[in-house]
Amino acid sequence: MRRSPRIARLLAEVYERLLAHYGPQGWWPGDGPFETVVGAILTQNTAWTNAARAIQNLKAAGAMSPAALRAASESDLAELVRPSGYFNAKARKLKAMADYLERYGDDVAAMGGKDVRALRSELLAVHGVGPETADDIALYAVGLPSFVIDVYTQRIVDRMLPRRRLRGYDAYQELFERHLPRDAAMFNEYHALLDAHAKEVCLKREPRCGSCVLAGLCATGRRAGGG
Ligand code: SF4
Repeated sequence: MRRSPRIARLLAEVYERLLAHYGPQGWWPGDGPFETVVGAILTQNTAWTNAARAIQNLKAAGAMSPAALRAASESDLAELVRPSGYFNAKARKLKAMADYLERYGDDVAAMGGKDVRALRSELLAVHGVGPETADDIALYAVGLPSFVIDVYTQRIVDRMLPRRRLRGYDAYQELFERHLPRDAAMFNEYHALLDAHAKEVCLKREPRCGSCVLAGLCATGRRAGGG
């Protein structure tokens, strides 16, 4: 993908408008980097509220550490994370992640010494970690600049830039990473703001273009007569 000054200006303006409108989002919710890693796995294919209930169960059982996850039986873990759905699979994934973290002395912060691409590749090789989970961990747990893409982000981009016809996770990620400064704090906030915007305005049953702060920047919004 070639860098386009027009897209760079657009994405910077989208960020400024969302931040001015919604304010800082304070992601990721939770208690520290390891809990963020666990949350990134537990929130796969489910709402955050369900993942949060599973996290509370793990904490109440004293299982919120890599060593405790390794020591627990898979079936006990599955019971604890049941509220997050796909609980047998998620128990296996948590144990695989705990095994992986051993190479960093169970210290998530130690992963920050790695190059972000190298870390991402390592994470993708861990059982149960796909691109979104790898980027959630790299960005929100470790603090490295890896832009997180989710379904919300993809759909907002498709509505704003329908002519780009992006396909697949990596294409959306490249759009942001090629056109924004590699700034972990900004990536952190930007993804959270897109999530808020999707839930509040854009990905309701019908997009509410008439009251959208991005209407003048968005092809769909302009067609709807906004901005
Ligand atoms: S203008 Fe409409 S389609 Fe575009 S981002 Fe806003 S709500 Fe979504």
